Amino acid sequence: MSAEWGLFSGGRWSPGVGVAEVRNPYTDEVVGTVVRASPEQALEAARGLAGVRSELTAYDRSNILTATAELLHRERDDFASTISQESGLAIMDARREVDRAATQLRYCAEEGKRITGEAIRTDVTSARQRRLAITTREPIGVVCAVTPFNRPLNQVVTKVAPAIAANNRVVVKPSEKTPLSAIRLVDALLRSGLPPDLIALVCGEPGELVDALIHSGHIDMLTFTGSTRVGRLLAASAGMIRQTYELGDSGALVIMADADIPAAVAAATAGAFATSGQSCRGVKRIIAHEDVADEFVRELAAAASALVVGDPGDPATDIGTLIDRHAASEVEARVARAVAAGARVLCGARRVGAQYWPTVLDHVPRDADLVRLETFGPTAPVIRVKDFPEAVEVVNDSRYGLQAGIFTNNLEHARRAAELFDVGAVVVNGGPQFESPNIPFGGVKDSGIGREGARYAIEEMTRVKTLVI
Ligand code: NAD
Repeated sequence: MSAEWGLFSGGRWSPGVGVAEVRNPYTDEVVGTVVRASPEQALEAARGLAGVRSELTAYDRSNILTATAELLHRERDDFASTISQESGLAIMDARREVDRAATQLRYCAEEGKRITGEAIRTDVTSARQRRLAITTREPIGVVCAVTPFNRPLNQVVTKVAPAIAANNRVVVKPSEKTPLSAIRLVDALLRSGLPPDLIALVCGEPGELVDALIHSGHIDMLTFTGSTRVGRLLAASAGMIRQTYELGDSGALVIMADADIPAAVAAATAGAFATSGQSCRGVKRIIAHEDVADEFVRELAAAASALVVGDPGDPATDIGTLIDRHAASEVEARVARAVAAGARVLCGARRVGAQYWPTVLDHVPRDADLVRLETFGPTAPVIRVKDFPEAVEVVNDSRYGLQAGIFTNNLEHARRAAELFDVGAVVVNGGPQFESPNIPFGGVKDSGIGREGARYAIEEMTRVKTLVI
């Protein structure tokens, strides 16, 4: 990867108005530099995309996405190392992320061949119009993808792959904290045959760049993944363009008295601690029935204590760093406040630099910041409840609603949870972290607007056009 990269516009890597350093949160070493674009250059990139039309067929696009997936697979170690170095994620997590990104590319390669419309007869009124209307889904145009620091490769693929599958042009504005994986992805797409004039990438000061892009008059859709705070800012200013927002969550996992405790512990461990707890669909609150809470927290603390916190580059490490020292200090402060309000620490609650040890807390008050806000770190706060109605009340007592899980062997509780939990998806006998590329993904309330998942993202990134014969 070249130090000259960071601004891809008009079909080529271009000089910007300066460079930014990217540091490894574990070693604090500079692991890359990226070219910074000015707002004028961002506008120019958008104008360039607006001025071209894709000549690619569905077959061509499918081949490009498949070839990119194959390239990711071949260069898995390089991609994983880039992710780990710029984000501090354990290399084990980073490898998993490359595999997920390749899976998404492959699935979008298939789904892009299945974009269809409807045939509708219009003889439904007293006007007796015997016509046939045919709908098609047309590309929306120029998609602006703004992505977060966590899962820095996969979050970009989640937007770029359906955008290309739907035959759009796309400009990517990655997180300034983790731009290197996004740059590598654009390079991979180009090497896999994507015509260079169909994609752009801009790095730099986020507020200025995104503002320039969405007010350029050349953007047809904003697809944003990130914090609710920034999502709200953009929603207030983006105006009449299609928008989707994938935002934060305080993902709930409910453990009922009849739960399979080993399975629930495994789901809680993976959901709360993978990627150092920095996942939008991770487990951020555990709502445990008081009859099984003692056993559950004991087992969970044992599982958390067995995780290896260490050098992100070491394959034996389970938990690398958080994105930076500031983020780890924020988690530390919230845990301290929860403890002051009555929570009990069972393990962890230790910070060194940007690293935070997997932490299990019991008896967490449901109004503690640790659970009321989205805590982006490896914590498993347990809130005890006495019955199912109280569990439902706690799940819904949140400004967020992305995904939630429930462990129970009671079919009625499972059915009621699906009905009553105010979230985008309910997972029975699994954690909120469940994912599959062919199902819808997205939240309610402050967790967002719109859906991802290949088919659903393609729907968001196309518009219906009607032909009446
Ligand atoms: P963030 O909101 O700070 O940044 C997200 C993106 O917005 C970045 O590209 C950033 O540069 C840009 N940005 C920042 N300030 C901006 C501004 N004033 N105007 C325009 N753009 C701006 O989020 P983050 O800290 O990078 O990511 C973590 C958040 O993302 C968490 O809340 C997490 O839950 C959420 N997330 C959600 C999903 C989901 O699918 N629901 C997935 C991953 C992450």
